Amino acid sequence: MTDNNRAYNFNAGPAALPLAALQTAQAQLLNFNGSGMSVLELSHRSKQYEAVHNQTIELLTELLAIPEGYDILFLQGGASLQFAMVPMNFLPQGKKAGYVMTGIWSEKAYDEAEKLGAAYVAASAKDGNYRQIPDLEQLRYDDDTAYLHITSNNTIVGTAWQQFPDTGAIPLIADMSSDILSKPFDVSKFSLIYAGAQKNLGPAGVTVVIIKRHLLEQANKKIPTMLRYGTFAKNNSLYNTPPTFTIYMVKLMLEWVKAQGGAAGIYKQNKQKAALIYDTIDGSEGFYVGHAQPEARSLMNISFRLANAELEKKFLASAEKAGFVGLAGHRIVGGCRASAYNAVPYEACQALNQFMLAFQKENS
Ligand code: PMP
Repeated sequence: MTDNNRAYNFNAGPAALPLAALQTAQAQLLNFNGSGMSVLELSHRSKQYEAVHNQTIELLTELLAIPEGYDILFLQGGASLQFAMVPMNFLPQGKKAGYVMTGIWSEKAYDEAEKLGAAYVAASAKDGNYRQIPDLEQLRYDDDTAYLHITSNNTIVGTAWQQFPDTGAIPLIADMSSDILSKPFDVSKFSLIYAGAQKNLGPAGVTVVIIKRHLLEQANKKIPTMLRYGTFAKNNSLYNTPPTFTIYMVKLMLEWVKAQGGAAGIYKQNKQKAALIYDTIDGSEGFYVGHAQPEARSLMNISFRLANAELEKKFLASAEKAGFVGLAGHRIVGGCRASAYNAVPYEACQALNQFMLAFQKENS
């Protein structure tokens, strides 16, 4: 537990939220800005809610340095619905969609595209058990590529793109669910970015989409209203009822990010936090073995193994007893994983570093 009685929360998502954001939500819970009601009870058509909604968009624009010519949308259905919405909107007959396979979430995105049109693998790291990110030179584009899809951070295996490809006239689309706003990056390289909020932006329930208007103009219009990006863009994401309280929590989290020095400030913290854990792995003489190749390491999800399943079980049980939450690896791959998202405090990573060192000493 931290000094504030908060668990050392390394959950992969939903994940830790900033204490300051939770405290503000608590203070405003019964009477938001003199409205006599909670944000939970406000009409999504009210002036008070509209202000929250628009401030959230303004904060995202500022913190992600989103240039002119993009719309920011709030959708539901998680990043998983984006796997289908992207090809529904942007994969016309006669064109193909390229996917770079860097983990299980890329595979899921690809599977949806294949159901809806022609998809191909533009590069894959599957042979190496997703320990690395393919070289940019390995990318190949078929003729008539409608878009290239990448997963910027691979939540389960713990790898991340260190540099994004330049796709020229081919629209680049990214699933940034697990590393959005963890560091500064150039939005203008992308035609569409999507991210479930529940790791780096706030609680579960909203998916943030950043979409270039130029791409939007090419969208398929013959699909159901709620599956069209255009519906949300045209109505400032208020075509139907948005997840109002979740968006309010995103706003509070973004205000906290801004107070940390924005994306640059958060990046500095994230590097320091991840180093505490990677350094322990690297200095352990093989007691802890990182899954990702060092040059492909994610700052957000740190996946590692111990010598055998029994020792891993012991590690996870002792960690749980010591107040650490969420350190078991994804059920598909096993092992251990520490997710050190934006709101995970340095103090929690420091405690994990100390715990890992002590556990190694006792068990080697
Ligand atoms: N993409 C990535 C990279 C993820 O990590 C996840 C969830 N862990 C998803 C997509 C799926 O997100 P959701 O549960 O919001 O559908």
